[in-house]
Amino acid sequence: MSVTARNGAALTEDGLDALVAVLDEIRLGRSGSRSELMTRTGLGRAVVAQRAGELIERGLLREGGPGRSTGGRPARRLDFNAAAGHVLVADLGATSIDVAVTSLDGSIIARRDEPSDITDGPAHCLGRVEALFEELRSLPDLPGRLWGVGIGVPGPVEFATGRPISPPIMPGWDGYPVRERIAARYDAPVWIDNDVNLLALGEWRSGVAAGHENVVIVKIGTGIGAGVISDGRLHRGAQGSAGDVGHIQVVDDASVVCRCGNVGCLEALAGGAALARDGEAAARDGRSGRLRAALDANGRVTAADIARSASFGDPVAVGLLQAAGRRVGLMLASVVNFFNPSLIVIGGGVAQSGDQLLAAIRETVYRRSLPLATRDLLVQRSSLGEVAGVIGASSMVVDQLFSRESMAAWMPLGDPSGMPEVATAAAR
Ligand SMILES: [Zn+2]
Repeated sequence: MSVTARNGAALTEDGLDALVAVLDEIRLGRSGSRSELMTRTGLGRAVVAQRAGELIERGLLREGGPGRSTGGRPARRLDFNAAAGHVLVADLGATSIDVAVTSLDGSIIARRDEPSDITDGPAHCLGRVEALFEELRSLPDLPGRLWGVGIGVPGPVEFATGRPISPPIMPGWDGYPVRERIAARYDAPVWIDNDVNLLALGEWRSGVAAGHENVVIVKIGTGIGAGVISDGRLHRGAQGSAGDVGHIQVVDDASVVCRCGNVGCLEALAGGAALARDGEAAARDGRSGRLRAALDANGRVTAADIARSASFGDPVAVGLLQAAGRRVGLMLASVVNFFNPSLIVIGGGVAQSGDQLLAAIRETVYRRSLPLATRDLLVQRSSLGEVAGVIGASSMVVDQLFSRESMAAWMPLGDPSGMPEVATAAAR
């Protein structure tokens, strides 16, 4: 098969591969000049020049100033034109909605967030997302036009169809056509993924995981999940459910019932909801004065109350976080032995809040994993905090836009409008 490039010349399969490789190198910051492109991709001078020229013509790359000198005259820089367009993203958590408009390199141009309850169902929650999107779209001076929309939800998503599948904490969302609903409003492609994969993409592209090829990113919020970067790619698995570690069985105890319907799941023992449950029990039977005070003040105990009490040295709260950390650490030790990552990132609301949890996870992982697997293993806290989800959603959209499949669809178009207004944006 061959497709036709804009200038009418046939773009072969190899040509398409080279085009995608050149664009990825520049937009991900791995190469900054034609000579670096040649060294890193192994492509010849003429191919690099031709492909870079096409991407400049399309408005995706720009000639920059003098770059790094390699002895002779300094090589001219090539820059990614991140302002060629913008992307709308939303990160739906169990208890919040976070939306943003970003440029094509994931930089946040504007952002809105509000409390929300995912159990209110898709009509309500997506209605709020759409209202917040409209607010962002009305801002002046957004770069280019809208190129794509990305949405993260707190449950398993079949990536190919963009539909949540039997999500344990999202009643009313099973099979809901999220992509079709959003795509009907916007003249742009839409991608949906689970929130943990987006956290992983965000930390990998712009956070603490940058530069690592094999990473496990664990989110400990209301529930527990993990995103997996394998050999420099997000590993979604056959259906999109890879990394769902919260529902690994860790105890054989019929009294520990999980929201997924099984018993003994990690999430049912060590997630934020489980911490809150155990903290409330400790408050009611008088074991912790601080948790009792939180219960009296608010009528309930949250994971945040436990983290706060632990930071004041409350022994019950410290014990709960340590026990949760050891359980997460035991699961991760198995994952480390199986997958051999160079980095484990711990993120999510519960993990952000206290040192005891991270310390217990770290200690257990190092003690229970094989020595070779832990020789250079790092266990670190998420560095992007609450914006990791929207940054990751933007990365997902841009990765999909510039994937081989999308580029194959774009490049044959002889008309510059085939790429959303890029030519016009570049001409301004
Ligand atoms: Zn479960």
